[in-house]
Amino acid sequence: MGRADILTDGYGRRIDYLRISITDRCNLRCGYCMPEDIPLVPAEEILTFEEIEAVCTAAAELGIRKFKITGGEPLVRRGCPKLIGRLNKIPGVKQVTLTTNGILLGKYLDELVFHGLRSVNVSLDTLKPEVYREITGSDGLSLVLENIGRAVDAGLQVKINSVLQKKVNDGEWEALLGLAKDQKIDVRFIEMMPIGYGKKCEAVKGSGLQAKLREKYPLMERETQARGNGPAVYYRIPGFSGSVGFISAVHGQFCDSCNRIRMTAKGELKPCLSYGDSVDIRAAGVTADRIKEAIKEAVRRKPGGHCFAHRDGITEDRQMVQIGG
Ligand code: SAM
Ligand code: SF4
Repeated sequence: MGRADILTDGYGRRIDYLRISITDRCNLRCGYCMPEDIPLVPAEEILTFEEIEAVCTAAAELGIRKFKITGGEPLVRRGCPKLIGRLNKIPGVKQVTLTTNGILLGKYLDELVFHGLRSVNVSLDTLKPEVYREITGSDGLSLVLENIGRAVDAGLQVKINSVLQKKVNDGEWEALLGLAKDQKIDVRFIEMMPIGYGKKCEAVKGSGLQAKLREKYPLMERETQARGNGPAVYYRIPGFSGSVGFISAVHGQFCDSCNRIRMTAKGELKPCLSYGDSVDIRAAGVTADRIKEAIKEAVRRKPGGHCFAHRDGITEDRQMVQIGG
């Protein structure tokens, strides 16, 4: 690898995006992610904010331009908005975004905006309080909806991530899509991945859902302009302020354009979501040169594609809450 294309993997893909889990703790108990208490990473093993900043600085020097803060629930870790501010100041960084379940979004909204957050993904699978309780174990639906409205009013770009499951919330796509009708919110439907507890859930295929939408909205048109950090395919529906996106995580053929690596809360760099393989950033010592070597190694180890269609090949045995999604 020459210096200019140092973060190009063995398949010619340019890697410029790092998803960073800052905690494996969560204030919800979503059935497909963390339905029950599971062993937590001891607090002393979780990367400090200084270590995360050091990783991001090294990553930016290697050409990584975009960071996503995830978890667990990132907003349960004290200081998350400040961390976003620090990462935003790293030379070369174009964008730092956040994925949250929305429960604490209102509480930290002003701070997040102050620290330069411009875009947030809120995970929301239902608009029915009883189904929300069934999926997440919480009565927080109205709070999440209120916080989404406040985030839009504060000028943030808001994307809703919805995972549909058969016999749980598969009938709710139309209601969820309604959030994109009058507000500039994108609603994205993500296929359930057979990771951890997700293996037990009945996924709704993106292609089938798209067919239903097309029937209801025949004038729906695919957006031609590329946008976002990843695999979502977006469509415009006449009369809607926001767009609808499909992230066909299992059946979509998007690995050819994969641009990312992931880092767990204790500093394991993951080349691909479906495999357990990782490079431990701490093992080598968290100095700039060693971090860069670890990042390059993770990029080198990226496989050509995931193996979700053939479950036997999946070697990732952690839960999504331990990885970051
Ligand atoms: N707590 C935050 C949240 O819920 O947005 C961030 C972490 S969560 C692990 C990130 C995303 O992963 C959420 O949108 C969640 O719905 C999704 N997710 C969790 N398990 C999944 C699975 N098995 N398949 C697909 N998406 C999953
Ligand atoms: Fe927590 Fe997000 Fe997982 Fe739900 S999806 S349990 S909110 S980490």
